[in-house]
Amino acid sequence: MALRPAPPDTGIVFRRTDLGEDMEIKAHYNNIVDSRLCTTIGNGNGISIGTIEHLMAAFTGCGVENVIVEVSGAEVPIMDGSARPFVFLLKCAGIVEQNAPRRTIRVLKRVTVGDEERWASITPADHFSIHCEIVFDNHTIGTQSFSYDSQRTSFENELSHARTFCLAEDVEKMRSAGLALGGSLDNAVVIGDHGLLNEDGLRYDTEFARHKALDCIGDLGLAGASLLGHVESYCAGHAMNHKLLAELLADEEAWCWNEMTVVVNSERGDAAPQVRHAAVAASA
Ligand SMILES: [Zn+2]
Repeated sequence: MALRPAPPDTGIVFRRTDLGEDMEIKAHYNNIVDSRLCTTIGNGNGISIGTIEHLMAAFTGCGVENVIVEVSGAEVPIMDGSARPFVFLLKCAGIVEQNAPRRTIRVLKRVTVGDEERWASITPADHFSIHCEIVFDNHTIGTQSFSYDSQRTSFENELSHARTFCLAEDVEKMRSAGLALGGSLDNAVVIGDHGLLNEDGLRYDTEFARHKALDCIGDLGLAGASLLGHVESYCAGHAMNHKLLAELLADEEAWCWNEMTVVVNSERGDAAPQVRHAAVAASA
């Protein structure tokens, strides 16, 4: 996988380099083709790219809005199951401000999807935040929650390291169905009957809830612009995140575009857009 700089208003565009330069799929919720185990986007002609959610979370967390992602196959590399390697790559490449105002999506009313057992909601707020709670019938995971506030919490330190997790019994089921063949303790936290199978333990005490928040941030990145709203997520997964986004954006009274205006800095006397588009500075 390689990341390339892109001009303002490009958005996040994936390119299947193994199929030719023009095989592009925009990271947009209308292009989601599968959200069962991971988030997969496709172009409608059978061309798809899967496992985009952790990379998408890294873009949102680092504020990158314009980038070309070249992938030489049907999946983004899973790396260690977290967003940490992608944040590292973005920091190595550098992030530049671009000379265009940033557009955001302002949530105007509460939207809720799901039922009593698992649900997600978004309510109006002046910046993005999320509260995530999970309840597992497994004593190693149990009940966990985590809150992320885009203005107060460090995405890199508090979220990006959190890894995908799964139950050992589910890995066995997936293997017999021909799935997760590349899955191992190097790219997931695996929970057995008597606790973690990973010898090094957890990266955070609430790593499971944090990973759910990370997934949600990545999935909501498919809105095509950052969201000004507060998300609450209860036992939700990729499909629920996508449903929330689709219901929000389908309701014209639930959101509006919010363009960050150019403000004049009176002390220095120069005009500068307060919040601008950002893109990767160099290929990585
Ligand atoms: Zn994930």
